[in-house]
Amino acid sequence: MSRIRSRNTKPEVALRREVFARGLRYRTSLKLHGKPDIVLTRAKIAVFVDGCFWHGCPEHGTRPKSNIQYWGPKLDRNRARDAQVTAQLEDAGWYVMRIWHHEIVTGCGSVADRIERLWKERR
Ligand SMILES: [Zn+2]
Repeated sequence: MSRIRSRNTKPEVALRREVFARGLRYRTSLKLHGKPDIVLTRAKIAVFVDGCFWHGCPEHGTRPKSNIQYWGPKLDRNRARDAQVTAQLEDAGWYVMRIWHHEIVTGCGSVADRIERLWKERR
């Protein structure tokens, strides 16, 4: 299953590079709830890059047909945890951006543009 990926896979690296090229300086390992991939501290923006498979992207989050008793609950838990993390960060005043892997693959520059726009608004 080539779509199964974890942290520090290529789309995340590509996005960080794009964001950096726009002059934004971010942290990646800030001890923040849910461990966002890009953290813009002053603007309080937390960006998560969500793998299409693990986080149930509407376009590519198809569930494996085999072993459904294992995958079903596991993927449901992932989604529930994502929602919980987002809510907790928002309660703490953070703006949470969740980006699908495929959005970076098809348009890394436009995703970085969105982040930059938001960063300018919230600075
Ligand atoms: Zn996707």
